[in-house]
Amino acid sequence: MHIKLAKHLGMCFGVRDAIAFAKTQSRQSPLTTLGDLVHNQGVLRELNDHGVRSTRDFDQIETSRVMITAHGSSDSVRQALDERRHEVLDATCPLVHHAHRLLTELVASGHFPLVIGKPGHVEVKGLTGDLEEFRIISGEADLEHIPPRPRYGVVAQTTQPIERVRSLVAALRERFPSAEVAFRDTVCQPTKNRQKAAKQLATESDVVIVIGGARSNNTHELYALCSRHCSRVYHIQRAEELREEWFFPSDLVGVTAGTSTPDDQIRSVVDWLEAWIVRSDFPARLSKVTN
Ligand code: SF4
Repeated sequence: MHIKLAKHLGMCFGVRDAIAFAKTQSRQSPLTTLGDLVHNQGVLRELNDHGVRSTRDFDQIETSRVMITAHGSSDSVRQALDERRHEVLDATCPLVHHAHRLLTELVASGHFPLVIGKPGHVEVKGLTGDLEEFRIISGEADLEHIPPRPRYGVVAQTTQPIERVRSLVAALRERFPSAEVAFRDTVCQPTKNRQKAAKQLATESDVVIVIGGARSNNTHELYALCSRHCSRVYHIQRAEELREEWFFPSDLVGVTAGTSTPDDQIRSVVDWLEAWIVRSDFPARLSKVTN
């Protein structure tokens, strides 16, 4: 059995920097993040140990300092925090800021705003929170509910699969052939790299393990992507969830992970696989491939 690790496996820089910022700031005084900093229970427990609390309910905030997460937020939310006299710390990923800027420019130039993403996701709420009118597109069925306008401005949630985004933009152009459709590609490069590497890994592997939080949207997207290219794909949060019956001696086992999965969780999965190979009847076949 072989183990192959996907390229671009570790945490993305946006999440990593936000966690480091929260830990550093919490040494000065306790703070609250507006919603979970990452969708990973292990990381959230660790932050909690550092005195970092999390809530989306303004009435539950007990600290004077409040941190906006890497997912970003609308200006109206920042203003509401200001009005409550909170000190606002901003851990918004620069690539999410970039998406906000591009959407603002599109609206300023008279385009009707469309956001390709998951309705209700915190990043999508942040992107749309200051807009009077907008539509969120999560699939082709949503195109039916878009009002006819001469100009549309389209951005995407940063963690959307780029192939789906492009195909929805093409479908939008087909549905409104006489409208101008200005598309700004805001899917972040770390997401594109990760998805491309995961697709290649899934194509080559007999079985793929996707590591990431149960509520992590980008992990679910990775799982869906891998499932289109490999028939045996398992989403786990930690090594303890692995099952020996998932693997055969001749398997090439691919390992990938969501953007908020810490290195030690990935390491413990690889350790589990290596230990199981050594315990099993085919130790001579053990090898690990990193591409
Ligand atoms: S997934 Fe992309 S946009 Fe989101 S935090 Fe990571 S680098 Fe930033």
